[in-house]
Amino acid sequence: MSELHKFLFEGLPVRGAIVRLTDSWSEVLQRRAANTETGAYPEPVSELLGQMSAAAVLMQANIKFNGALVLQVFGDGPVKLSVVEVQPDFGFRATATVQGKVLPQAALSQMVNVNNEGRCAITLDPLERLPGQQPYQGVVPLFGDQKEKLEKLSEVLEHYMLQSEQLDTTLVLAANSQVAAGLLIQRLPLEGAGNLAGRYDSVERESALGKDEDYNRISILSKSLKPEELLGLDVETVLHRLFWEEPLLRFEPLLGEAGPRFHCSCSRERVGRMIKSLGVSEAESILSERENIEVACEFCGAQYQFDPVDAASLFTQPEASPPTGPAVH
Ligand SMILES: [Zn+2]
Repeated sequence: MSELHKFLFEGLPVRGAIVRLTDSWSEVLQRRAANTETGAYPEPVSELLGQMSAAAVLMQANIKFNGALVLQVFGDGPVKLSVVEVQPDFGFRATATVQGKVLPQAALSQMVNVNNEGRCAITLDPLERLPGQQPYQGVVPLFGDQKEKLEKLSEVLEHYMLQSEQLDTTLVLAANSQVAAGLLIQRLPLEGAGNLAGRYDSVERESALGKDEDYNRISILSKSLKPEELLGLDVETVLHRLFWEEPLLRFEPLLGEAGPRFHCSCSRERVGRMIKSLGVSEAESILSERENIEVACEFCGAQYQFDPVDAASLFTQPEASPPTGPAVH
């Protein structure tokens, strides 16, 4: 069963979370493999998407925000777009668009950053969006401080958190065909959660970034975790091995219906809105060539069919729908 565990280091300005996606991750891969048009993901793509899924769940677990967190990696290689969407209740879905050949050992840059156009974006899309309100989005290139191409998703996201959120973050991510897992360690904002409140002004706060002894020690311990350990060991063993000397304060684990699980938010209604947005002439043009308008959900594989009567009714019904999100149907 997929599981998410959050914890604090008592008395230290450091928090963390660890996630293991098992059944839910298998479901993502099985649904893709069942798609006769695309077939299964090439291994490096599935590894990237698994790491993204684990990371997106960890980030959703660490923000106070009532809405979907969407993590995207897109660029100029054969992997045009990979996207993971995590709802506030940890229901998640993931997909990648692959055009062209992905080599068996392809690195991140070979998949999405061939000509330096690769980007990583994080979007926070509020559940109750006000009229005209845009989702918040942050974007970073796939480069490090020395303009070197980053080859690890964890490094890209650590960069993102430092640049856009001013949060020191350590991430260890790993995925194979059975498990997608991640460990996140974050230095708490100094003004937050009663930690050292009021002791620093903003200049000092900035200079303190990355200099906290406790955070650095815990970060180094975390980085000693090997991908095969993260994938192969249970959560209790990982946390004990890494932090047995630390004052770990655990929260109730989130499992089953309360934990991370596969969930696709597509529906006939949303697909209908999408067809409507194409316009009546486009819909008629499709129907002049075939019997039905057919739309397959790229996240879960669900097939939606609209015959000419269904399609016509889309364009005669009054508009009574909320604005659509950035994710398709
Ligand atoms: Zn779907």
